[in-house]
Amino acid sequence: MKKYFVDILNFFKQLKISNLLKSLRFRFFIIVFATGFLSCIIMHILILQSYEDRAVNVKSNEVQTQLRILADHLLKYDNYLNNPTSTVINAELDMLANLYDGRVMVINDNLKVVKDTYNISQGKTIISVEVVNCLKEGSKGALSKYDQGNGYIEMITPIIETKGYGEGDVSEKGEKEVVRGVLLTSVSTDSIETTLDILSKRAQLIEGIITLVIFVYAALVSIGLLQPFTRITAAINDVKAGYTDEPIVGPNYFETEQIIRAFNALLKRMKVLNDSRQEFVSNVSHELKTPITSMKVLADSLLAQDNVPNEVYKDFMTDIVSEIDREDKIINDLLSLVKMDKTAADLNITNVDVVELVEIVCKRLRPIAVKHNIELTLESKRAITAEIDEVKISLVIMNLVENAIKYNKDQGQVKVELDADHQFFTVKVMDTGEGIPEYALYHIYERFYRVDKSRSRQIGGTGLGLAIAKNAVLMHRGTIDVESKPDVGTTFTVKIPLIYTNPK
Ligand code: ADP
Repeated sequence: MKKYFVDILNFFKQLKISNLLKSLRFRFFIIVFATGFLSCIIMHILILQSYEDRAVNVKSNEVQTQLRILADHLLKYDNYLNNPTSTVINAELDMLANLYDGRVMVINDNLKVVKDTYNISQGKTIISVEVVNCLKEGSKGALSKYDQGNGYIEMITPIIETKGYGEGDVSEKGEKEVVRGVLLTSVSTDSIETTLDILSKRAQLIEGIITLVIFVYAALVSIGLLQPFTRITAAINDVKAGYTDEPIVGPNYFETEQIIRAFNALLKRMKVLNDSRQEFVSNVSHELKTPITSMKVLADSLLAQDNVPNEVYKDFMTDIVSEIDREDKIINDLLSLVKMDKTAADLNITNVDVVELVEIVCKRLRPIAVKHNIELTLESKRAITAEIDEVKISLVIMNLVENAIKYNKDQGQVKVELDADHQFFTVKVMDTGEGIPEYALYHIYERFYRVDKSRSRQIGGTGLGLAIAKNAVLMHRGTIDVESKPDVGTTFTVKIPLIYTNPK
């Protein structure tokens, strides 16, 4: 409960007047409150309205019945419609008028008022459409009209005499109705209005109480129902502040679950991005290390010898310069990769002599092979030119040959075979090394995966080489396969299309 009030307090603290309309909580409150309040008002109006309709209806029916009885009486007193002297009828008319707090006028078929309980219009002629209609149409012309503004009901009741006609046979005899006059009555609806007033006042009091209850209810509901959003904001703030990077959990509504799911997905993506950034740094170091290793080997072997002939010196220095060039090329390539979006990093496709490219790679790695007592041979079955990214495919071949040397036995062999058909060129890198166990074959392309971690680290492997190679091959829409037998050797086969097709 205490937390509830703290939340409410925080909500009002954070809320500026300008933000009030933007607040979901405030809008929710207004909707709940307005719905409750409006239903209350509508109910008030409808109940009073239907009471009024019903009360007017009941009163009209009651008075109409009395008037019909009176009309029948009236006909029994002969000639009342011409000479209204009957004290009985007059007393009945006055009584009816008093009872219903109204006025009754008896009008004959000449439209002449023969009796008026107000004694105002006696002897006058009434020309009213409704009265004339009623005289013409008889019971069909009977009418009840409620004048709400002036607070009375006006009624027109026909005075009908039923006369028999015909003689002899039954089929010739009958009865017909003759309208002898009409009763024009108005009754006050003051009593209905008084009741309406009392009802309305009571309803207002109840409305006031209900409005107060709805106000409190709307406030509690709007704060309570939107509580999960407050919790999500707090959890997101925790992640933002760095207290945690765990996914948000919590039993919530469907909508808040959607938000949580989206946020957790975002969190996961951020983690992946962070990981891949770290991987990228490792990739960079890995790629830069290889030429430096070659240069060091070349320089060391020069240093190790005394009185090196000038030609050998030049030869070694040329190799060192080409390693520096390669290093420079890789750095430039990486820099341009960094500048570009990772996914949009386009390949630098040119027409490349693949045999020459593989020869250069082998030449670069030969010093390392020699150092490891490995025989490195290259066999090309034909001249091959292909549309490829020279740097990336060099990286592929370099990684495969370097691995074949690194994971080989002493006095082992590495054979690079080049071939092509009309669609693809194939590079096979075969070694007589330790091989890769079967369970590991599915994982070797994963970043940082190494079969024997400590040995691989000793050798200088980071577990990135094959991941880089696979990425580069896939970017060329090629394939990379491996076959390996432990203690016999490993063969990597790379197949790349001769003509590059842009996937976009
Ligand atoms: P690393 O930098 O460790 O060489 P790679 O991604 O190039 O990383 O290779 C992943 C793992 O696959 C290596 O650690 C090694 O265990 C195994 N591997 C790769 N090539 C060979 C090979 N020719 N012979 C035996 N094992 C290999």
